[in-house]
Amino acid sequence: MVTRTRIAPSPTGFMHIGTLRTVMFDYFLARQTGGQFVVRIEDTDQARLVAGAVEGLLNTFKKLDLDYDEGPVLLTDGTLGEKGDFGPYTQSQRLHLYKPYADKLLTDGNAYVCFCTTERLTEMRAAQMAAKQNPRYDRRCAALSPDEVKARQDAGERYVVRMRIPEGESRFVDAIRGEISFNNADVDDQVIVKSDGFASYHLAVVVDDYLMKISHVLRGEEWISSTPKQIILCEMLDIQMPIYAHVPLILNPDKTKLSKRKGDVSVESYLAKGYLPATLINFISTLGFNPKADQEIYERAELVKLFDLSKVSRAGAVMNIEKLDWMNHQYLMQLSQGELVAVVQPFTTLDLSSLTLQKALMIERERVSRLTEFADKLSSYVSIASYNPEVLVWKKSTKEDSLLQLTNISNVLSLLEDAVFDSVTLLEAAIKEYINSNGLQNGNVLWPLRVALSGLEKSASPYELLWVLGKDETLVRLQQAQKLIG
Ligand code: GLU
Repeated sequence: MVTRTRIAPSPTGFMHIGTLRTVMFDYFLARQTGGQFVVRIEDTDQARLVAGAVEGLLNTFKKLDLDYDEGPVLLTDGTLGEKGDFGPYTQSQRLHLYKPYADKLLTDGNAYVCFCTTERLTEMRAAQMAAKQNPRYDRRCAALSPDEVKARQDAGERYVVRMRIPEGESRFVDAIRGEISFNNADVDDQVIVKSDGFASYHLAVVVDDYLMKISHVLRGEEWISSTPKQIILCEMLDIQMPIYAHVPLILNPDKTKLSKRKGDVSVESYLAKGYLPATLINFISTLGFNPKADQEIYERAELVKLFDLSKVSRAGAVMNIEKLDWMNHQYLMQLSQGELVAVVQPFTTLDLSSLTLQKALMIERERVSRLTEFADKLSSYVSIASYNPEVLVWKKSTKEDSLLQLTNISNVLSLLEDAVFDSVTLLEAAIKEYINSNGLQNGNVLWPLRVALSGLEKSASPYELLWVLGKDETLVRLQQAQKLIG
């Protein structure tokens, strides 16, 4: 059997971070078996559509450099096309394909026409709730005769089609959770064709997964309660049921469900906060799935090899932002200078083509977790903001001594050969040699030097600052500091 996985988002907004986790699992499974990964747009609920959501979703795929084999694609002119032999891949374009299945269910007596109005259903539910029963359709229309149904349809009465849930039990083996069974008495006679003629989600999903030859249905655990309806539909239609795997929820640190109210949930918001696509993919793919106890950073290709559905944890996975920050830092440290410039540029208005800023980036990334933190850190390399001269004085020193040290170190640095400024190590050696041979205290020299170069109480080391700024700018800043303190 060829492995074919799919993600089937409804175009109601941005890609949720939990959806990305399912996308990655779909992707790994398809790639490790030489199968295909399909994107299908589930827009049968026309009332919930959000304009631009499909484009936004596909854009997120692009930003994450995630390839899929079939589904809608964004064309260069911004419009939508598609790729693959099993299309169309948008459900509203497939309505004609669902109809024969709905008809078969009706003909076989596995579904029935229901004329109950919204008002009646609301009253029925209220009465059931009052009687502490689970709200479910009471089957008033289940026994209507074919003649009555026809007469009411001919008279133009609005109706839906409901599946007739049989007695008994429904079971399936979830690839993450093992065997799950439901008592059919707890399953509602689900609407499969709505009054506007659209197939409902349940019918469309079953027919599409079948026609698109989907072998594995991976989705969030909130869909577990839908699964009995879908496996019953597969049985009624005599079609092979896919393998189901319900992926656990992603939780806030307080173990509540990750929701918009408590923080960010969209992949886009994490990208905007300055996490690298590769970090997000590594982080989310190993949330609740950790193939090696002593490893956190994985190449995508490595995860393709190692992924194993049966090793995905059944428990909800906590979104640990500290770990995400740590991981992003690891990824930032791995980038080449050119790559670093390219990823930081959109997060600052500074022109990063200057050599000073490129060097500054290499230094500052040591202390940065997210791309958004760079802009602030870089500005002092372009020009120093005005600062309180008191800051130049080390806590164990005096103003007079600080001025003396600044004057002396300025002379020492001006005499160094230009080549020394090309290496942090050489700069450090030269300054240490000066401090030691003159019997000076590190703090007395290094503190005012560092503040004079950065204007900041906290910054990179003086040796790094010297390397980034170069000899000329260094001497200018030291002179300014001497004036300020003098
Ligand atoms: N259309 C559903 C959603 O919006 C997909 C459910 C499924 O994967 O079966 O998430």
